[in-house]
Amino acid sequence: MVAARGTPLNEGIRFGRIFYYSEHMGHAAFDEIKEPTIVVAVDLTPGDTIRFGRLNVVGLVVKNAAPNSHTAILSRTMGLPALCGEEVDAQWHGLPAIIDGGGELIVNPDEPTRSEYALKADDFDARQRELASVSRDLSAVTKSGNSILLYANINAVSDVENAIANGAAGIGNFKTEFMFMESSDLPGEEQQFQIYTAMASRLGTGKFVIRTLDVGADKTPGYLHLEPEENPALGYRAIRISLDRRDIFVPQIRAILRASAYANVAIMYPMIVSVDEVLQIKEIVGQVMEDLTGEDIPFNRDIEQGIMIETPAAVLISDDLAPLVDFFSIGTNDLTQYMLAIDRTNPRLAERYGPSHPAILRSIKLVAENARSAGAWVSISGELAADEALTSTFLDYGVDALTVSPSRIPQLKVAVRNID
Ligand code: PEP
Ligand code: MG
Repeated sequence: MVAARGTPLNEGIRFGRIFYYSEHMGHAAFDEIKEPTIVVAVDLTPGDTIRFGRLNVVGLVVKNAAPNSHTAILSRTMGLPALCGEEVDAQWHGLPAIIDGGGELIVNPDEPTRSEYALKADDFDARQRELASVSRDLSAVTKSGNSILLYANINAVSDVENAIANGAAGIGNFKTEFMFMESSDLPGEEQQFQIYTAMASRLGTGKFVIRTLDVGADKTPGYLHLEPEENPALGYRAIRISLDRRDIFVPQIRAILRASAYANVAIMYPMIVSVDEVLQIKEIVGQVMEDLTGEDIPFNRDIEQGIMIETPAAVLISDDLAPLVDFFSIGTNDLTQYMLAIDRTNPRLAERYGPSHPAILRSIKLVAENARSAGAWVSISGELAADEALTSTFLDYGVDALTVSPSRIPQLKVAVRNID
């Protein structure tokens, strides 16, 4: 029996057989997953994480991941216990194991250990279910009557059910790039429209914020043929690609606008650094609206449009940006990366500098003030939004919504309701 310790990424206890994965295995690896499997890897791309999540994978142990990396975020949305930062060993391949997302991987557990963890797993799952069912229909309101909306961050159509089951007030960030990454080709307007309306119809009247394509850096669908870059996190990504590639952006905007005729849909644009970008977006969206009108296609002309505030530039010019939009969503994962100059995928740095650094908290305060002055609403959609130690601070700052992984909502709702 070997017990290896790692940094917790997502809680939960699961039993499975270890599959030691490395990228050079290619697609054949995915066909090998049959029984409950704990994937162990040195590196795992967001694309591979999504693919494993669709299979019988019950846990992830990734040496080179960090709490704000996409692998960590995906593990939370998909409800997979996950660890990072520990040394991993190819010799473990095929061995039975227990992953405890609280910080441990036990390889080749003996019988007493198996029994102990089976009880712990049942207990954990029962508590989660109980928390979700007790809190599902309650609103997130403090004892003195201050309320905040708790939305879900999601990556796929199937996550909508999970968001509803956990009592989300809506979807605060549908990260459409994962839909693009799961597809072998560029998804067209009609395909996207079908997906957005199917999701919206499950949500009913709840808000449904659809974020336009945020690819680049570590999210690179092969068919886009993005060139390798020296500094990908500072490179060709997100809105920079959308503004260049009208063949991608316009069909996505058309699909979102068309879906807005049937549900409470809002559009959100990622990685904004300038007023000029927002003006360019508005010009394109205005043109698409004219086209749809000319084609007699229904859409909501008053659809809410918002931007991610996830660069220091956007924080500092948030007073200029706020009058141009209906809402801001503060992406603390990227904001932490760019504000503190720490690679969000590097586990060694994650422990040293957290996203509750005063520079991040002051940014949130400033952005919320500027939003309020312009009559825009503001959410936090990075992982920091789920930090219960900061919930009352966010309320004091006037944050209107917190957008978190579906499984975090019940606990966060209870935390809000316990605030005086
Ligand atoms: C963020 O950067 O905080 C965010 C919400 O977006 P993503 O994690 O998808 O980059
Ligand atoms: Mg981001």
